[in-house]
Amino acid sequence: MKKRILTGDRPTGKLHIGHYVGSLKKRVEMQNSGEYESFIMIADMQALTDNAKNPAKVRENIIEVALDYLAVGLDPKLSTIFVQSQIPELCELTFYFMNLVTVSRLERNPTVKTEISQKEFGKSIPAGFFTYPVSQAADILSVNADVVPVGEDQLPMIELTREIAQSFNTLYGETFKKPEGIVPEDGLSRRLPGIDGNEKMGKSLNNSIYLSDDAKTLRKKIFSMYTDPFHIRVEDPGQVEGNMVFTYLDVFGKNKAKIQAMKEHYIKGGLGDVVCKKYLFEVMDEFLLPIRTRREEYAKNLDYVYNMLEEGSKKTRIIVNEILAKVREAIGLEYFKK
Ligand code: ATP
Ligand code: MG
Repeated sequence: MKKRILTGDRPTGKLHIGHYVGSLKKRVEMQNSGEYESFIMIADMQALTDNAKNPAKVRENIIEVALDYLAVGLDPKLSTIFVQSQIPELCELTFYFMNLVTVSRLERNPTVKTEISQKEFGKSIPAGFFTYPVSQAADILSVNADVVPVGEDQLPMIELTREIAQSFNTLYGETFKKPEGIVPEDGLSRRLPGIDGNEKMGKSLNNSIYLSDDAKTLRKKIFSMYTDPFHIRVEDPGQVEGNMVFTYLDVFGKNKAKIQAMKEHYIKGGLGDVVCKKYLFEVMDEFLLPIRTRREEYAKNLDYVYNMLEEGSKKTRIIVNEILAKVREAIGLEYFKK
């Protein structure tokens, strides 16, 4: 049997280049290898946990995320793309899992801690947001996934998923596999920083380059990018560490020799930010052009995209129901079965 993949994204905005290097790239490679059965989820219920007052934002971004998927090469013939809310059984599974996790265990999740402080919830943390890692465990285990290709911020969620699978199996009998998280080999791709130098590019953080950005927007973003604040005159020696222009060149540039020479020149002094930014623009535009073009093509046929999501959701729901039947039986909830 092929190994199963489950992964996904929150429809809180269009997808950015951090998503690409952190997870999408690997998904497409794994899909094309033919060795996996892939399930890709648009996590609209999870998006509602911190956007309950703005369901329109979540609704609108479902199609944007789906277009981004198709644009980077996810193929509905090879990967099943579905929408979380169309599978209500995921809520049932979440509810059983809630009993296998303590509040103090949830409080220790470093990603959730960071997100809570970024979102400035104060004491008003929605219970749904606080517990979303449990619902994420349900998503992963609902198809009994083997692997989950994600960025580094998701590793605590996968650890929790493994713990929940273990607890369930111990209490109710062997039911779930313990899935493994797959993160990119290089540190920058595991957590691509934002154009403002923030340690993570995030669609809710206003510091992203989107896969759908047109050339003009891309140029503007690159020219406003955080570099070295002490590199004021061209002749000044500059820092390449923590300088976003060189960070992105390291991740996306193919001509490593040229980039190395530019770095040495920049450190020594005599190389201006404008020249470096112009080169970064060329590199990024070359990378984004085919993605942007494919996206525009799919955007002309939204019926096709909605249909793909509906079909993918129906197919996934059947599989989830098979697993849920085992879960109910394992816990002993089949009271009326003759
Ligand atoms: P939000 O701000 O709404 O949480 P996000 O940009 O963090 O949005 P998610 O939908 O939460 O995006 O994450 C989807 C996937 O992309 C996850 O696997 C996550 O690890 C990965 N990812 C998100 N941001 C980055 C990043 N900057 N670098 C690498 N991977 C990332
Ligand atoms: Mg996130």
